[in-house]
Amino acid sequence: MRVTFLGTGTSQGVPVIGCTCEVCQSLDFRDKRFRTSIHIEINNQSFVVDTGPDFRQQMLRERIKRIDAILFTHAHRDHTAGLDDVRAYNYMQEMDMPVYGTQPVLEQLQVEYAYAFAKEYYPGIPRLTLNQIDGKTFPVNGVPVTPLPVMHFKLPVLGFRIGNFSYITDANFIPDETMEKLRGTEILVLNALQRTEHISHFNLQQALAMADQIQATQTYLTHISHKLGMHADVTKELPDNVALAFDGLQISSS
Ligand SMILES: [Zn+2]
Ligand SMILES: [Zn+2]
Ligand SMILES: [Zn+2]
Repeated sequence: MRVTFLGTGTSQGVPVIGCTCEVCQSLDFRDKRFRTSIHIEINNQSFVVDTGPDFRQQMLRERIKRIDAILFTHAHRDHTAGLDDVRAYNYMQEMDMPVYGTQPVLEQLQVEYAYAFAKEYYPGIPRLTLNQIDGKTFPVNGVPVTPLPVMHFKLPVLGFRIGNFSYITDANFIPDETMEKLRGTEILVLNALQRTEHISHFNLQQALAMADQIQATQTYLTHISHKLGMHADVTKELPDNVALAFDGLQISSS
């Protein structure tokens, strides 16, 4: 199984429009962060988790020629705003795109992309097949995916575990039942927004405490704000088994 970080930035991305801080002006490519998303390749399948506003650029950068399914963590715009561009895959693959999400997420997609679900078919619209999921493990083309329910302030969000890879973005609380589901995970991806506390995301200190509790072999931090600091500087502060993710980073997992 191979995972590519398509984007590792918070909702505004990094650099932030108009910002002149040192992170936003950094020349280090690791300080340029598209909105958070990953690409998963497993058993000749190609999955994307979330389609934020940078989806098109991410597909072009990573030269992703096929998508078999899209999994949604939640319906915030920084995770859904690029969905219209699945049209490219509708055309190439000559099929509707299977989308997986909880009932509230699927409802929100039908509001935001009402034209894609209109009774009267208009040529050229994105074509989506909605698959409702809940807390239970579900198969995507034969690959078992285990949802990891977490809280994002008051909003329930799903992380996903496939094999020994676990992915949690947009959370500031992991309930005990989900901690059980994380047991034995080798690779953990966790959100770490900034240094100061935040109402709906783990900050760096909280993410490190969670990583220490979950004890994955390797933890990667994502959904990063310009307020966290320069990639190179923050990296020096982290324990050996924790790293900041960056756009384009590829990792292997079992
Ligand atoms: Zn987000
Ligand atoms: Zn900045
Ligand atoms: Zn969110």
